[in-house]
Amino acid sequence: MNLLREIWMRVAQLFYWKRRNARFFVILGAPGSGKGTISKLLAKSIEALEGMPLPRLVTGDLVRREIEEGTAFGLKWGPMSKAGGIIPDREIMKLVKRELKKPEYFNGAILDGIPRTVGQARMIRRMLMWWGNRINRVVLLDATEEDLLVRLGGRRICSGKNIPVSADPAKPASKCGRDFHVLFSPPKVEGVCDGCGSPLVIRDDDAPKVVKERLRIYNEISGKLLRFYELSGLLTRVITNNTKSVEEVTRDVLFTIEQFD
Ligand SMILES: [Zn+2]
Repeated sequence: MNLLREIWMRVAQLFYWKRRNARFFVILGAPGSGKGTISKLLAKSIEALEGMPLPRLVTGDLVRREIEEGTAFGLKWGPMSKAGGIIPDREIMKLVKRELKKPEYFNGAILDGIPRTVGQARMIRRMLMWWGNRINRVVLLDATEEDLLVRLGGRRICSGKNIPVSADPAKPASKCGRDFHVLFSPPKVEGVCDGCGSPLVIRDDDAPKVVKERLRIYNEISGKLLRFYELSGLLTRVITNNTKSVEEVTRDVLFTIEQFD
């Protein structure tokens, strides 16, 4: 089976020769693990080191773009996605496939937000195999629940209450939108936005009860996915805790990726 796969990969690489050197990395992590920040830093470091960009593919951003642009996908799944529903694997994969076909991904991508399920992981494997590519490494940003609760519970966002509402609807006032963390990036004055002086608030998503529920759902879904990648020999755990800086974590992730390259 593995031999057949290798032969197929070589044949596919002849057909899709522009993608023959592509590398794909998956970054996994619980809400609050710093997945977004770290995958951004990782993309920057790789570009600086290799002189070639390895773009991030963030499924959350993809879906948001579809909704904003009012595409068929956005119209169909937007309302459900906004209500917190889960878009079927097959639909998400269609979107991801369309995106990855673009030339900017011929070098590969850092996948953030996908796969979420074993079903999606299998579909990605099949899709990449078709192009003669594979997932090179899966990195789990491993944090204890205690640390995650501290991080998620300490987030504050600007309420924007001090920003005057524009009288002209054609020129709405710019939103402030700054965010803070009581421990990691506190505002100069407690509870007040540095940018516009508005009071800071806790996002609905970050209320303690909601946070616990989000972590519970994450653990339930990700357990099988982690086992799947562990059995495939692709998974590496990188410890991230509240005393380690994001730069340190990114360096560890980069080291892991290069080790298995
Ligand atoms: Zn503000």
